[in-house]
Amino acid sequence: MGKVLGIDVGGTFTRFGVVHNKFVSSVEKLFTANIDDFVAFVDEQVKKDKEIKTISIGIPGIVKDNKIVSIPNISNIDIDAVNTKLHELTRLDVVINRDVNLLFYNDLDRLNLKHEENVLGFYVGTGLGNAIKVNGVVLKGSHGFAGELGHIPLIGNKRLCNCGKTGCAETLVSGMALVNLHKENNLSGEIKNIFVNHLNHEVIKDFIHNLALIISMEINIFDTTKIVIGGGVANMPEFPKEKLRNLIKKELRSKSLIPELEIYFVDDLPINSIIGASLIVKEE
Ligand SMILES: [Zn+2]
Repeated sequence: MGKVLGIDVGGTFTRFGVVHNKFVSSVEKLFTANIDDFVAFVDEQVKKDKEIKTISIGIPGIVKDNKIVSIPNISNIDIDAVNTKLHELTRLDVVINRDVNLLFYNDLDRLNLKHEENVLGFYVGTGLGNAIKVNGVVLKGSHGFAGELGHIPLIGNKRLCNCGKTGCAETLVSGMALVNLHKENNLSGEIKNIFVNHLNHEVIKDFIHNLALIISMEINIFDTTKIVIGGGVANMPEFPKEKLRNLIKKELRSKSLIPELEIYFVDDLPINSIIGASLIVKEE
């Protein structure tokens, strides 16, 4: 397989890296100011390195049949224009997936879970990302919406979500939700130390409890005992991993699942999604 230009499109900036056999030559950041800059940058990288055979892009949104359907947290993006320009300009294979699947493929690989039939991935970053592998297949759904766990409505939740709906799980359990909690409750210290300073505060306890409920709900649906948890929030100092693990266990449908439950907490390094971008090309 030739080299892959891995691209992880983010809300604030986009990461690029050239991957060859899981080795990433460099990771560069680019502010996603506009599509023309983005496309021009991709074009430049591809011209610079003739061994690049595939462009693999992860986006924080919905993808169907290799086309971007929606990106809720990024405004001012003409989705059709990006699709058309990239396919036209580079004449290379362009593979587009949800960003969370890039992380998931990297984790399946590095945790030696590739041959496991059933694995769930939860990535608590800006939003709440989710990837589902059941009976050997990473689910996509009919419209590319499979694993939109962050956008299931929670009873009694009146908060407005960036997707336009009210009550989404992501408004309570995500990095954005944590920033809101910090502000609304006038919690002292920097946001990055919120678990260091306020682990026993009611709102932080609720935050972890809600996360456990959402995760265990999905475990109960899919009967899966191998769980990956990552993302920026899960990597903040003093994030209560053991507490989360115990809360999840309490909610499992069957006691027989408890001894089998394996939770893998993973780091949140910038190259994870870039390596995942190359692995997903191989797998799909
Ligand atoms: Zn939503």
